[in-house]
Amino acid sequence: MKEGWEVIIGMEIHAQLATETKIFCGCATSFGHDPNTNTCPVCLGLPGALPVLNEKVVELGAKAALALGLEVQETSIFSRKNYFYPDLPKGYQISQYDKPFSANGILTIMTAERDEHGRAKEFKPMQIRIERMHLEEDAGKNVHEGLPDVDKFSYIDLNRAGTPLGEIVTKADFRSSWQAYDYVNHVRRALQWVGASDADMEKGNLRCEANVSVRKIGETGFRNKVELKNLNSVRFMQKAIEYEIERQIEAHESGEGVNQETRLWDEKNNKTRVMRSKEDAHDYRYFPEPDLQPLVVSSEFIAKIKSEMPELPDAMRDRFMQEYGLSFADASQLVLEKDLAAFYETTAKASGNPRVSANFILSELIRELNNAGKTATESPLSAENLAELIKTLDAGKINNNQAKEVLVEMFNSGKTADAVIKEKGFEQISDTSAIEKIVDEIIANNENQVTAYRGGNEKLFGFFVGQVMKASQGKANPKVVNEILKSKL
Ligand code: ZN
Ligand code: MN
Repeated sequence: MKEGWEVIIGMEIHAQLATETKIFCGCATSFGHDPNTNTCPVCLGLPGALPVLNEKVVELGAKAALALGLEVQETSIFSRKNYFYPDLPKGYQISQYDKPFSANGILTIMTAERDEHGRAKEFKPMQIRIERMHLEEDAGKNVHEGLPDVDKFSYIDLNRAGTPLGEIVTKADFRSSWQAYDYVNHVRRALQWVGASDADMEKGNLRCEANVSVRKIGETGFRNKVELKNLNSVRFMQKAIEYEIERQIEAHESGEGVNQETRLWDEKNNKTRVMRSKEDAHDYRYFPEPDLQPLVVSSEFIAKIKSEMPELPDAMRDRFMQEYGLSFADASQLVLEKDLAAFYETTAKASGNPRVSANFILSELIRELNNAGKTATESPLSAENLAELIKTLDAGKINNNQAKEVLVEMFNSGKTADAVIKEKGFEQISDTSAIEKIVDEIIANNENQVTAYRGGNEKLFGFFVGQVMKASQGKANPKVVNEILKSKL
């Protein structure tokens, strides 16, 4: 960023809550059905149809709120947000305004600036204030068919109308695009982790918007901000913010100034462009929804939800460091996905060697999973079988390089460690009597070397080890060979 300037960013995320049915009716929320098949008088906005709140939305909303460090409010109010748009059949959206479902969140994220290759420097904790997460219904979709720029037909598909959303709004706490990037990834993982949302940006069930403005360092007020929309991935969002920082600084410096507006990220041309000038809150004429009661959430309900919540990723990371002696970097990588973390913990416990388990998973297994395009749950090599392999390694039956080779074969074939080791002929001879026999022969056949060694030429020890290994075709356990040779010589 240009010297003397800073950026102020606030984030809004719309996350679709993973219910089977819509927020105010019984229609399915499933994706990819024929247009307007998942609809009823309520979500079509027909006169006289009345909304009824789906309890599952409250449950998943509470999980999401708790996972993000928000306080669920005892009473919240649904309000009508009035605006006209073809995909909004009622002419208003049922949302929440002055009394949101949850508020006052403090979320600690790990964040790092990146170098020009996108490589992270040191990750540090940062506290983000989350103002609120309110509940609301989604709108439908406008579908345009025909050639680009020559749309012949436009349709409305209301399958998505009435799908439940949590809208998560932060304070303007971010001072770089990478902080915003790390925040969205944190939120996405937290929502998936507790099962509140699929949080898949490609499918549009997690949509984020960034409010971006710049100011001279030392200024206290805010300059005009721009809302960035249409950010289809976290990386595009980060790029859009970077572009916008440069554009705004230039516009201020040239005296042209920045308009308060909504801009889209144009990924083909790598720039933002104007979508519309931004409405103010009063344009929406919010008022309480007369067809719904205030939503009251009891402390018993919250206690029950808390008891059902899994251990959150940051807590798990800290526990992995404490319980298993892992580094911050390794533990952080293992908790990037819930499935991977569970795979690790099963392996660590079953093998009795948590550090080697982490090494094998983070280097060997993840590489194989990535090559095969699979997740930890889909791994053909089970955590139990990997633990067996690690035990075999720890027992000295195979060496480290052999273990890596066996792992790849286990991954490809789904076979057990024992089976692959036999097939490859890797089994080491640890049987002392077998090794003793070889050692005796070597000693008997190399009288001169034995005399020299006993006379003080200790360097010859390596010669004997080499002979035994050769005679055993490399299968003798080196530790056992050493011990026996020492005692016999
Ligand atoms: Zn419906
Ligand atoms: Mn919204």
